[in-house]
Amino acid sequence: MVDEDGGALMTGWEYAPAPESRETARLRESYGMFIDGAFTGSERTLKTVNPATEEVLAEVAVAGPQDVDRAVRAARRAYDEVWGPMPGRDRAKYLFRIARLVQERSRELAVLETLDNGKPIKESRDVDVPLAAAHFFYHAGWADKLAYAIPGRPDPRPLGVAGQVIPWNFPLLMAAWKLAPALAAGNTAVLKPAETTPLTALVLAEICQQAELPPGVVNVLPGAGDTGAALVRHDGVDKVAFTGSTEVGKQIQRALAGTGKRLTLELGGKAANVILADAPLDQAVEGIVNGIFFNQGHVCCAGSRLLVQESVYDEVLDKLRRRLSTLRLGDPLDKNTDIGAINSAEQLARVRELSDLGEAEGAQRWSPPCELPDRGFWFPPTVFTDVSQSHRIARDEVFGPVLAVLTFRTPAEAVEKANNTPYGLSAGVWTEKGSRILWMAQRLRAGVVWANTFNRFDPASPFGGYKESGFGREGGRQGLEGYLDI
Ligand code: NAD
Repeated sequence: MVDEDGGALMTGWEYAPAPESRETARLRESYGMFIDGAFTGSERTLKTVNPATEEVLAEVAVAGPQDVDRAVRAARRAYDEVWGPMPGRDRAKYLFRIARLVQERSRELAVLETLDNGKPIKESRDVDVPLAAAHFFYHAGWADKLAYAIPGRPDPRPLGVAGQVIPWNFPLLMAAWKLAPALAAGNTAVLKPAETTPLTALVLAEICQQAELPPGVVNVLPGAGDTGAALVRHDGVDKVAFTGSTEVGKQIQRALAGTGKRLTLELGGKAANVILADAPLDQAVEGIVNGIFFNQGHVCCAGSRLLVQESVYDEVLDKLRRRLSTLRLGDPLDKNTDIGAINSAEQLARVRELSDLGEAEGAQRWSPPCELPDRGFWFPPTVFTDVSQSHRIARDEVFGPVLAVLTFRTPAEAVEKANNTPYGLSAGVWTEKGSRILWMAQRLRAGVVWANTFNRFDPASPFGGYKESGFGREGGRQGLEGYLDI
C-alpha cells in the first residue's frame, strides 16, 4: 500500500521476534527420579520432547514397582520419624523456603515448562510459576494454624503418606497444588508427574533438596500410567490425590474401593460460559478468549461451551472472530505468542478427531487465517457454530483450542443448557446485573462459577467439581481437609 506521495504506509504493527533464551532452562541430557532425598537413575527411561519442535529434550528415568515401593517406604519413614512429629511452625519454614526458591528460580522454571509443555512463555512466566509459589506461601501460613482450619476440629491429624498423580497441562502448578497442602498438613508425599511433562516436577524436587527438606518427605517418580497405577494401589499409601481424565479417575476409584484409603479426584470438564444480553460485550469477548484459548484449551475448567443470548449473538460472534484474528500462534518461547503447541501427538489426534466429528455432525467450523509451523503439534483456534446439544463437540471434553457456540433466549434456558452435561467443574456468567449473577450462580451445578471473568485462580479459593468432574477440593481451608484426618 502507498500514500499520496508514493511512500509506503504501515498496514499494522509488526512484532519483532522476542524469544526468551532457552539457556535459562538449564536443560540437562538426563534426569533421575527423586527418592529419599536423592536422585537415582533407572534401567527404563522415557524421552520427553518439545511439542513445538518434536526435538528430544531429555531422557528421564522411569520408576518401576520396586522404585514405587522404595519411595513409599521412604515417605513412611519420614512421616513417622521426622515430618509427622515436627511442630507446624517448623514445617512452615520449609514451605516458605520452597516458595522463595521457586520465585528465585522462576525464569528457569518458566522456560523449562514452556519447552516441555508447549505453552506460551507469557503464561508459564505470569501464571504457572507465580501461582505455584503462591500455593507454597499460602499453605506455609496454615502449617502452624491447623487448629483453626476446620471449625469444631481443634486437633486435626495428618493422614500419613499421600500418593499423588498429576496431568501434563499445568505440570509445575499441579505439583504445587498437590504437595503444598499435603506437606502443610503434616503428610509426606510421593508424586508422579505426567509422562510427557516430567521436567519441572524434577526441578521442584531439586528445590526441595536445596531447601534441605528432610529426605523422604517429598519423592518424585516419573513414568506413565503403570507407574501411577502401582503408586495408587500401594498398601503403604494412605491418601490418593489424582488430577486427570475421568476415565482413569473412575479406574482409580474402583481400585481403591474398600481399601480405606482417602481419595480426591479432579477430573474433566465441559464448562459453560454464559453471555447475557446486558453483558459488557468487549470484556466478555476477552473472557471468552481467555476461557477457551488460554493454555491451548488444555484446561479442565476451560469455557469450552459458549452460551450466548440470541439478541446479541451476531454482535458477539463478530467481535469474537475479529479478536481471534489478532491472536499470534507460534514459537511458545516468544514473549508475544498467544497460542502455543498442543502437548503431544496423541492429544493433537484427539483434538482433530473431535473437530472432524463436529463438522461431520453438521456444525459450522471456523478458524482465523493462521499459518501453522511445519514441525511440532499445532492446532488453530477453532470456533464451531450451529452446534446442538446432542453434538459430540458440545458434550465431550476436547481439551484443545476448540469452542462450541450455542444460543439461548432466557436465563432459565441458559441454566438448563449449562447443566446439561455429565461434568460440573466450572462455569462463567457475564451480565451487568449483580442479582442475575447470584440467581445463576445458585443454579449452575459447577464447583466454581466465575462472574464477569474466567480462569482466575487463587490458593485461598477452593477448586473442584461435581458429578464426573470428581470430588474433593483443592485450595483454601477446604483443600486442607483432604489431607487431614477429621
Ligand atoms: P490421564 O488421566 O491418562 O493422565 C493423567 C495422569 O494419570 C498422568 O500422570 C498419567 O500417567 C496417569 N495415569 C494414567 N493411567 C493411570 C492409571 N491407571 N493409574 C494411575 N495413574 C494413571 O490423562 P491424559 O492422558 O493426560 O489426558 C487424557 C484426557 O484427560 C484429556 O484429553 C482430557 O480430557 C483429560 N485431562 C484432564 C485434566 C484435568 O486437569 N482435569 C488434565 C489432563 C487431562
